[in-house]
Amino acid sequence: MSSEIQISESSGTLYIVATPIGNLDDLSSRAIAVLSRVSLVAAEDTRHSGRMLQALGVDTRMLALHDHNERDRTGQVMQRLEEGQDVALISDAGTPLISDPGFILVREARAKGIRVSPVPGPCAIVAALCAAGLPTDRFAFEGFLPSKKGARVAVLEKLASETATLVFYESPHRILEATADIAEVMGANRELVIARELTKTFETFYSGGAAEILETLKADPHGSRGEFVVMIRGAEKDAGDAGMEEVDRLLKLLLTELPVKKAAKLVAEMTGRAKNELYQRALSFKED
Ligand code: SAM
Repeated sequence: MSSEIQISESSGTLYIVATPIGNLDDLSSRAIAVLSRVSLVAAEDTRHSGRMLQALGVDTRMLALHDHNERDRTGQVMQRLEEGQDVALISDAGTPLISDPGFILVREARAKGIRVSPVPGPCAIVAALCAAGLPTDRFAFEGFLPSKKGARVAVLEKLASETATLVFYESPHRILEATADIAEVMGANRELVIARELTKTFETFYSGGAAEILETLKADPHGSRGEFVVMIRGAEKDAGDAGMEEVDRLLKLLLTELPVKKAAKLVAEMTGRAKNELYQRALSFKED
């Protein structure tokens, strides 16, 4: 039996419209047409998006829909849609719902059989990945890293052996701390690409080992200004081929709980490396 929900033909359509992440020319002509045609544009910040619409000559009515009022505003938007009116959802920049509001509304609209249609366009994750030179066959977008060091390190530790390329959004206030934690947890040489100010005048890609990038960012007067996407190359695919960095990380982790012999044995099983080699290595860590 199919669980597909019947789309209501008498209702309007909810359009999820991507807007630029820095360069206004990236707004598609279809996006402009939809924003002009709908009866209402739900926007995260009506003042910010109002300026964009004004610059485009679009005078569609706007409604504020952000993280703090999405639940309430969803009812109002749903009413219009159920009356047969079309509505567009936009966020401050890029694609709505990607670390932006809209999930509650889209979920509710789909549950009620309202047609939800994307108008795709800019998204910082995709813009960063397609130009970074890191593998894109598999990637894991992890949103923003936690702002507190302890929680951030815990998340990074959990992801250290992930083999897909890891992608994060990061704020300028924490970019240096986050890069330092990546170097500490995943190793100084873990390959990193940081995309800054995508599509804007000062667009920059920093790439290299994590420790090297940290130094570059510190030395660059713009290194902690603007908007950032952080991309980390995934861990080696086959545990049998695990790099020494990963082996050391596992050993150190297990040594916090286990005696040297047991830790070496487990890491040997996990990585396929010689037990004795790992025993010697673990011993030297213990002595340090
Ligand atoms: N929905 C947006 C998208 O589709 O990319 C993302 C919204 S999220 C609240 C904002 C974060 O996206 C920023 O803190 C930054 O990490 C990233 N970002 C947005 N625009 C960017 C740009 N032009 N260059 C680099 N990162 C950007």
